[in-house]
Amino acid sequence: MDLKTLATLHDIFKEVQKQQNWKAALDKLFGALRGDFIFDNVAVYFLDTRAKTTDVIYARALGRGKGGEADTVWGENFAHEVIAKGKMLLREPAKKIRTFDRLSQAYLLGFPISLSPTKKGAIVYVRFGGPPYSELHVHLASLQSSWALAIIEQKELNIAYEELDSVQRQMRLQDDFVSTISHELRTPLGFIKGYSTSLLRQDTSWDEATQQEFLTIIDEEADRLTRLIEDMLESARLQSKTLQFKFAPIRLDALIRDVAIRVNTHHPDLKIEFDFESLPPVAGDGVRLSQVFENLFSNAIKYAPNSTLKISVKPVGNKVVASFADQGEGIPEDYLPFLFERFYRVPGERTVTGTGLGLYICKQIVMAHHGNIWVESVLDQGTTFFIELPVDPTL
Ligand code: ADP
Repeated sequence: MDLKTLATLHDIFKEVQKQQNWKAALDKLFGALRGDFIFDNVAVYFLDTRAKTTDVIYARALGRGKGGEADTVWGENFAHEVIAKGKMLLREPAKKIRTFDRLSQAYLLGFPISLSPTKKGAIVYVRFGGPPYSELHVHLASLQSSWALAIIEQKELNIAYEELDSVQRQMRLQDDFVSTISHELRTPLGFIKGYSTSLLRQDTSWDEATQQEFLTIIDEEADRLTRLIEDMLESARLQSKTLQFKFAPIRLDALIRDVAIRVNTHHPDLKIEFDFESLPPVAGDGVRLSQVFENLFSNAIKYAPNSTLKISVKPVGNKVVASFADQGEGIPEDYLPFLFERFYRVPGERTVTGTGLGLYICKQIVMAHHGNIWVESVLDQGTTFFIELPVDPTL
């Protein structure tokens, strides 16, 4: 090999590597050798051995009549043959036919590629109307095809890495969840057991006020346990999509005010500011939507204590958007994308109890309403949750 060829290959290698994604890399690669190896179309086929279908994962028309994605029917049967035989195939049209219809005169060159024993494919080049492929062309095409396979393998690896990453994160969350949940279950149970044992002691008598105090603690802790178990069941039902929704026209401002009144009876110190515009009703399940807003109130109380909660509800186009803004510590940007995942809790020192189920439940309920929920947060300034629901289409 001479120095010039080596330098050319090296330049191509660098250019191909620079590309942002695998399709752009293949575009660069298939375009790079065109000075020495000309073809009209190139396509990459993969055979799904289970479904017995052929997928075209990449196709380009580069030659005469070029224009983006190539029509890939021309190479499909040929690709099947290349895959079945597992070797390079060259197919030229019968010499005797003389015709001006170039498209009926396909010179096909195919190379088998394989990602795994069950994922086999072929790269097929076509020249319409010739000329026939020379020995040099076949070598160049072979080199290009091995290179293309490396690019496709890299893409598959990247996808596999991403999947693995997400599975690993989910497994970590499940692990954390088991320790969180055992703590969350044990704490109220500990209180209930401790105070009821004290009350039952034969050797001690408690005055009326103390008895009342102990019973109140037992009652509150039993409520906490019930809520926790309900959340776990609810999240399981939402995940398996077995939760039934009963939709009816709902005025979001009235619903949020009702929830706010209930919350205020338990947390009289919570300051709430309303900014409501006149609204069209949304189609919603009142019980479930109340649950969403209760969660947002409860999070504001837990994570932004002593802060005023500003709630606004406005119509935007054919949607209604509610926002809940607190002035708490905020959430670091890196954690925001995971907030609505099941069991996710922002890492760090924890004094606040929780399971990481609340926002997951909110998101599933909002999505069942064909709506949207998202969060914006600025450190030391506060966090705002937005909920967007479509206006009731029947009204
Ligand atoms: P939980 O409160 O049970 O941990 P959630 O799903 O309701 O679970 O919330 C997930 C995480 O999001 C919480 O652990 C908390 O770190 C963070 N978070 C939720 N709401 C707020 C808020 N208003 N301000 C700051 N952080 C919040």
